[in-house]
Amino acid sequence: MIRKGTRRKVMPALALALFTATSLSAQTKLSSKWEELTAPDFRQGIQQAKGTCLLPFGILEKHGPHLPLGTDLLNVRYASLQAASQEYAVVFPEYYFGQIFEAKHEPGTVAYSMELQLRLLQETTDEMARNGCKKLIIVNGHGGNEHLLPFFAQAQLDKPHDYVVYVLDGGRSRPGGPAKKSTAVDYHAGENETSNTIVSRPDLVHLDRAKNESGSDMKRQSLPENLYTGIWWYARFPNHYSGDGSLATKELGEWNMKSWIDSIVECIRSVKADDASLKIQNDFFEKSKHPLDTRP
Ligand SMILES: [Zn+2]
Repeated sequence: MIRKGTRRKVMPALALALFTATSLSAQTKLSSKWEELTAPDFRQGIQQAKGTCLLPFGILEKHGPHLPLGTDLLNVRYASLQAASQEYAVVFPEYYFGQIFEAKHEPGTVAYSMELQLRLLQETTDEMARNGCKKLIIVNGHGGNEHLLPFFAQAQLDKPHDYVVYVLDGGRSRPGGPAKKSTAVDYHAGENETSNTIVSRPDLVHLDRAKNESGSDMKRQSLPENLYTGIWWYARFPNHYSGDGSLATKELGEWNMKSWIDSIVECIRSVKADDASLKIQNDFFEKSKHPLDTRP
């Protein structure tokens, strides 16, 4: 029960100070998260971001026996939000509607059809742009999107758009930093990715289970390197585990995450300063209406 009489005596000065501090910090520091902004604050956020928005792109798929299904989503959002707190950008809510057919045999995978992936991504970027995100950086957190996202960005030239899509892929482990212990490949849920998750969500990493399955390369195909087939991943890593997560350390995770965050910050700054891309796109769209008039 609140004793009104005694509270009233102490409240005014303290409450005023707290209220002023809260409202001032709310004015000066806007949340980067789209879903946390009020409508008027969203307008201000888009202005502050100079129309630059991030779409962190994750996935739901098995990550060895020891990491959560949402590892890519959790890590890409962690890096993107940290970056946006250093260089302001509006960050779109959880997005995990990407390419993951190769994990359909594992529990917990959500694999939308190819048509829906492209349509949903197009409608999402269209809606973001309609709301002022004229410079839109897709921050990829999932290896299986490596072909989808450049294709999507390229396909933006099909029809005129009043916004530019930028794709930032990978780059999570730069050279240098703590010495790595892995002697074999480390693509998925191994030393690197497990280390990163120790930083983003240590409560969800079960390091003691990392050796319950093998993450070694089964090398079940023998084909030239430049010959692509969709089954290559399953042929090599049928357990959806590549590397050895038990070798993970917080130090390596901090190094990787810092590199990743720095590269996102660098991209936000470059994109904010980029006055060329949209003009060149508009020029291209105009000329593509009447190609026979185009002269060298
Ligand atoms: Zn992953």
